[in-house]
Amino acid sequence: MERFDTLLEAAKFAATLCKNWSFATSDERFDVKGLLILAETSDSEDPIDEDSFWVVSPAGVIGLCVGGEDIDWLFISDNTPNEDLPAEYQVEPQINFCPACGAPAVPGARFCGKCGIALRSK
Ligand SMILES: [Zn+2]
Repeated sequence: MERFDTLLEAAKFAATLCKNWSFATSDERFDVKGLLILAETSDSEDPIDEDSFWVVSPAGVIGLCVGGEDIDWLFISDNTPNEDLPAEYQVEPQINFCPACGAPAVPGARFCGKCGIALRSK
C-alpha cells in the first residue's frame, strides 16, 4: 500500500487509479479536480500529525492512518465501493538476510543481490 505525507500527494496518486470518490462520513462527492482542491486546502489549513500519514488502496481509496496504526478510510472509490479495506496499516516485515544464500539484503529490495531469488512476493 502506498503511503503519503500530504493529502495532495495521496490525491494525485489516487487520481491515477479512479476518477470519482464519495466521502465516507457524508454524501459529499468529489471528482479529481474537487479532490485536489480539497487536498490543498486540507494540507495547508489542517495538516496531519507527524506520526500520521495518508494511504491509497489499490482501487484508489484514500485513508488517513493515524499514528501509523488504524486507518480511517475517508474517500471511497466509485470503482470498487465494496473493496476489502484493512482497518490497520501493515508494515512489511523487514528482510535483513537472504533466506537462500544468507547474503545481507538491501532494505526494501525485492530480489537478493547475490543469488537473485525473490525476497518479496509483490
Ligand atoms: Zn540470496
